[in-house]
Amino acid sequence: MNGGKKVLFVASEVVPFAKTGGLADVAGALPKALARMGHEVIVVMPRYYSIDKGSLKHVPGELGVPMGSMGELWAGVYESVLPGSDVKIYFIDYEHFFGRSGLYAENNVSYADNDNRFIFLSKAAMQLSKKLRFQPDIIHANDWHTATIPVLRNTRYVFDPDFANAATVLTIHNLHYQGHFYKGAIDVLEVGWEHFTPDELEEFDGINFLKGGISHADAVTTVSRQYAREIQTPEFGWGLEQHIKTHSHKLYGILNGVDYEEWSPAVDPFIAKHFDLDDLSGKKVCKSDLQEEFKLPVREDVPLIGFIGRFVDQKGIGLIASVMHRILKMDVQLVFLGSGEKWAEGFFSELAGRHPDKVGTYIGYNNTLAHRIEAGCDLFLMPSLFEPCGLNQIYSLRYGTLPVVRGTGGLEDTIDNYNPYTGEGNGFKFYEASPDAFFNTLSWAVDVYYNDPEGFENLRKNAMKARFSWDEAAEIYTELYEMVSLKQAMKRYQ
Ligand code: ADP
Repeated sequence: MNGGKKVLFVASEVVPFAKTGGLADVAGALPKALARMGHEVIVVMPRYYSIDKGSLKHVPGELGVPMGSMGELWAGVYESVLPGSDVKIYFIDYEHFFGRSGLYAENNVSYADNDNRFIFLSKAAMQLSKKLRFQPDIIHANDWHTATIPVLRNTRYVFDPDFANAATVLTIHNLHYQGHFYKGAIDVLEVGWEHFTPDELEEFDGINFLKGGISHADAVTTVSRQYAREIQTPEFGWGLEQHIKTHSHKLYGILNGVDYEEWSPAVDPFIAKHFDLDDLSGKKVCKSDLQEEFKLPVREDVPLIGFIGRFVDQKGIGLIASVMHRILKMDVQLVFLGSGEKWAEGFFSELAGRHPDKVGTYIGYNNTLAHRIEAGCDLFLMPSLFEPCGLNQIYSLRYGTLPVVRGTGGLEDTIDNYNPYTGEGNGFKFYEASPDAFFNTLSWAVDVYYNDPEGFENLRKNAMKARFSWDEAAEIYTELYEMVSLKQAMKRYQ
């Protein structure tokens, strides 16, 4: 590495402070891995109502945030560190925008002023960087919430000496969410109406934050190589495929890592008994523990199949539901952990009610149970319609719980299909998003469990050996930072 960069990392959610999805996991782990590589990283996020001020340190003074037609707003700032590191994280405190029970929505209804809330976060991060005299080499924005930062960097802050060296990176964690708003937000953003064009911020006479970010960022990344390819097609592009294609010269797929200190059967504090590659006996204890938890018959000889995730279309819950009557004809047990769409909550609850000897369901969010499911199951279902990276299949590998996945996005990049002739692979994979393709692959996995136990055990071992570390990802981000910094330096001569 040629030298550490000063990185301003901005995200709307960061583990362990606030989380609704994979973005928070990345924002909590990647900055630490970048710091280990020698970068000086500071993280900025909102101080949501759920984050106790008492546990944070107050930064003296007020932070002025210019909000165009809304005038200048004044925020408080708090600081802390990412656990297990000395990476500083700053919290933007502004009651009117962030003193609410949800992060983006309440009762499944998005806050009507999400445009102002996240323009505010984006500008506050830039203003804070100025106040701290941080002068970043890299500003790393994440998803639509902070996607206006690259736009601001190139417009409102283009001649600001505090950002003279700043190159911008925008990471897309899920293209499905883009930040579409009424065009009046341009006046709050203060970037000038000349940027309200279809090749920058405009879409259907409204403003699209992510579209603007993609136009202006020096590099755009997404969280797997396969997803980087997919989002350039109509099936996965959510209307932005052409725009992304136009900018594909600066698009890179960098696979997320996972935190093996949290997700490893050798050290996991939540599971009934530890186990690892050299001694799998603890996994049997975890299996019976899980069967007891869900009041299923305690049997060692039946494949126990798990699902953890948001009950939304993306996760393939429709596919699972559509073949459930066929799955139940096999001698299997299933456990479901999740919440989301009401029909799915009803469906999986009722299923457990009707088939108490075969199905267990827990509706809600339960981290401890998630660990126990990973540890106790034999197979893990992830038939996603799209999956930017996906974490659960990677956790499953580490726990020797073989994933049954659709080969899309990060699932394609992390799961190798079983090859019965060579014994290679770490899971079971299908491609067509059809009930038959999914069912056939799951029944194949069940067949291998019953009739090819040696093959199944080999797959388990292959799976448990696989590693997807943040250090590896941080090395690739470092190369990217080097590249965009160099380009930024050369801009002086343009
Ligand atoms: P996404 O970000 O699309 O929701 P990922 O697989 O990338 O999907 O990450 C989901 C994360 O949230 C994982 O850490 C998973 O274990 C966790 N998770 C999802 N639903 C639940 C739940 N109901 N209870 C506990 N953990 C959950």
